[in-house]
Amino acid sequence: MDYARIRSPLYRQLYAGLPERIEDPRLLPVTRKAALMDRFDDWVTDPVVTVQRVQAFVADPALIGKSFRGAQTDYAVSTTSGTTGTRGVFLLDTRALEVAGVAMARWLSSLLRPATLPRVLPRVIAHRGRVALVVATGGHFASATAAARVGADSGGRTRSFPVATPLPELVAQLNAFQPAVLAPYATTAALLATEQQAGRLRISPALVALAAEGLPEGEPARIAAAFGAPVGNSYAATECPFLSYGCREGWLHVNADWVILEPVDAQHRPTPPGEQSHTVLITNLANRVQPILRYDLGDSVLQRSDPCPCGNPLPAIRVQGRAADLLTFPTPSGGTVTLTPLSLTTRLDKLPGVALFQIVQIVPTELTVRLQPAVGVDPDRTWTRVHRELTDLLADHGVGHVTVHRAAEPPRPATGGKYRLVHPYGQQS
Ligand SMILES: [Zn+2]
Repeated sequence: MDYARIRSPLYRQLYAGLPERIEDPRLLPVTRKAALMDRFDDWVTDPVVTVQRVQAFVADPALIGKSFRGAQTDYAVSTTSGTTGTRGVFLLDTRALEVAGVAMARWLSSLLRPATLPRVLPRVIAHRGRVALVVATGGHFASATAAARVGADSGGRTRSFPVATPLPELVAQLNAFQPAVLAPYATTAALLATEQQAGRLRISPALVALAAEGLPEGEPARIAAAFGAPVGNSYAATECPFLSYGCREGWLHVNADWVILEPVDAQHRPTPPGEQSHTVLITNLANRVQPILRYDLGDSVLQRSDPCPCGNPLPAIRVQGRAADLLTFPTPSGGTVTLTPLSLTTRLDKLPGVALFQIVQIVPTELTVRLQPAVGVDPDRTWTRVHRELTDLLADHGVGHVTVHRAAEPPRPATGGKYRLVHPYGQQS
């Protein structure tokens, strides 16, 4: 906090009326993405980092997975989709990336308990410790950046598979690769579990580590049964990639040594453990380049009031409203093709003229897009690009007959203020 006050002009201004020493962080004002992004150049603590330079960097596809050069050190860059109505650009410094690595190692080791080792170890050895990461490439995501680094360091033992790969191809590639650890997004894991149950996918991972999305109840158990392997769950944000990791009791433990998480009501007063919060404030204690202090993340959480039976003393939470649903399309030959919401959103996230979008499956063979173009861009040109991206993606997956229209209305937020980007058929808002 002192660092932010000294090095970030924005925080210096924000904290101007506060005492020199602050013992209780709850006295600090709450921050939000839109207000911080509006003053990006004053927010960051490295004077050579400007919104213009970072946006030019993000717009160049050749630089995906590369580092952004600061005054003294390099940063990893990620972008977030506009689920809160504002797209974000986030830089992580070396310390934050190291903490993310340590936290992930702690998570994986907690999943591999001594009791499961006799079953798990032979699989790790048989598959030579190979790790398959299913990642959102095509944009700047913390996961893609991390995957590019890990892949380069591991001599080919870690391989990334783009989330938008058509399912039969992804299945064939995973069958050839035979990973010891499968680390997909949760919705992709749900699809792969169905492929494994049908016998088309034939892998025997020691561990399935799910990233970033929620799943409907019962799904983690189905995925675990399909692969005969423990399934780990996580909940994180681009603003804080090491936020929390799941335990075998189905709770998420907050990495409280590196992040302060405060469940609060709509007026930002503390919500007691055992009660569902309106939103949650996070303070990232590791990342200095772009300070995240009492930042409103927009997720409703429930914190356990008693110790978690798994024995982990870190605060245990559950997150509401993160469950993502799959989209199913009929094929002309009478079959079906299922896509993850992320495979659609990553295609639109990389388009610079799009401020916010919402894709609604009106009928099984028709999508409409509620589009909010960025300020100062030509809406019709932006729509042409959006339309081309989506129709190309659908054709790649063998459902080119699905039509894509532009909706007359703008995107609509859900209760709590977040935007759900994809609404499968039967779940319109
Ligand atoms: Zn636990």
